[in-house]
Amino acid sequence: MAEVIFKQLRKTYSNGFEAVHGIDLKIEDGEFMVIVGPSGCAKSTTLRMLAGLESISGGEIRIGDRVVNPLPPKDRGIAMVFQNYALYPHMTVRENLAFGLKLSRLPKAEIERQVSDAARMLELEDLLDRLPRQLSGGQAQRVAVGRAIVKKPDVFLFDEPLSNLDAKLRASMRVRISDLHRQLRQSGRPATSVYVTHDQTEAMTMGDRICVMKLGHIMQVDTPDKLYRYPRNMFVAGFIGAPEMNIRPTELVHENGTLGLRVGGSVFTLPAAVAAKVAAHGAQDVHYGIRPEFVSVSIAKPNGESAQGRLLRVENMGHEFYLYISVDDGEIISRMSAEHASDVVVNGLGQTVYFQFESRQCHVFDTSTQENISL
Ligand code: ADP
Repeated sequence: MAEVIFKQLRKTYSNGFEAVHGIDLKIEDGEFMVIVGPSGCAKSTTLRMLAGLESISGGEIRIGDRVVNPLPPKDRGIAMVFQNYALYPHMTVRENLAFGLKLSRLPKAEIERQVSDAARMLELEDLLDRLPRQLSGGQAQRVAVGRAIVKKPDVFLFDEPLSNLDAKLRASMRVRISDLHRQLRQSGRPATSVYVTHDQTEAMTMGDRICVMKLGHIMQVDTPDKLYRYPRNMFVAGFIGAPEMNIRPTELVHENGTLGLRVGGSVFTLPAAVAAKVAAHGAQDVHYGIRPEFVSVSIAKPNGESAQGRLLRVENMGHEFYLYISVDDGEIISRMSAEHASDVVVNGLGQTVYFQFESRQCHVFDTSTQENISL
C-alpha cells in the first residue's frame, strides 16, 4: 500500500512567506494524481515537501503506513522525474539507468535485467551507449523516466517533466507516461504517481484525478470529467478547458415564476432545477459561466431565446472555428464545427449575429464568494 496523505500540510518560507496554507489531500494507492495550477500556486513546493527536498512547517505527510516528515528523500520510497532531466552528463544511458541500482548493491545480473526491462518499456535499447548530450530532449526525458522506473518506487513524482519539449513531443510523451502507468498497474506493480504541471491539457489527459491549486490552497479535487462539468468555483471553471469558459457578470431576472440571466439585452431562462438552486442560495450579485461549445451563433434570428452581438474575430482550427462575439462591454467565445460555422464565417467580420446558450449548461457563480451556486 502506498497511498499518500497530506494532513494540514503547511509551508512558510524563511522570509515569512506562507506558500502552502494547511492542505488536506488523499492520493489512493496506484492512483495517477495531477496537481495543476498557475505559476506560483505552490505545486512545486508541495511536491518538493512530499519528496523531502523541502522542509515542512506544519502538518503531516504519510506514504503508505509511515509518517515521512522526518525521513530524508532516499528513505521515502520515491523516485522523481524533473523538468531538466537531471541526467549524469559523463555517464552513458546504460550507466545512468544502472546508477541507483549499483548504489543499492544489487547483483550485476539483476542490474542488467532491470536496465534492459526499462530500456524495452521506454524504447531506449538503441540508445544505451550514448551520452546525454547525444540525445534529443524527448529521448533524455525517457531516460529520466527509465531511471525512476528501475528504482521500483512506491511513488513516482513528476515535476513539470514535459515543459522543455516541443508541442508534438509533449503530446507523445503524455501518452507514453500514461501507458507506462497502466502497464505497471496491469503487471501488478501499481505505482502511485503525483504529477505537477501548469498545463491543463496534461492534467485532463493524464490524471485519474486532478487537484487544482491556487495561491497555496486546494480549489477542487476530482476526476477530469467532473472538474470539467461541475467546477465548484469560478477559478476552476476558468482554469480547466480551452478555449476558456465564458464567465461574465450578469443580472438575475425574475419573470413569471422563472429565473433568467440577462445577456446582451436578452434574457436566457434557466432550467427549473438550476433556477431553484440559484434562488435558494439567495445571491444577487452573480456571474454566469458557459463553455464555448454551448454557445451557437447564426446570421438569421433563430427560434427560441437568443441575444445579439457583433462578430469580432474568427479563429479557424480546421475542424472547428472559434467565433468571438462582442456583447455588452465584453466578448463571448463560441466554438462551432466548421460545418455549422461556415454561414457565419463567410458573411464576414463586423456584422450583427445572434447567439444562443444551451441554458442547461449554464453555471451561475456568486460574485463575492466565487462559489458555483448552480450545482
Ligand atoms: P509553482 O510551482 O506553483 O509555480 P512554487 O511552489 O514554486 O509555485 O512557489 C509558490 C510560492 O512560494 C510562490 O509565490 C513563490 O514565489 C514562493 N517561493 C518559492 N520558493 C521560495 C523561497 N525559497 N523563499 C520564499 N518564497 C518562495
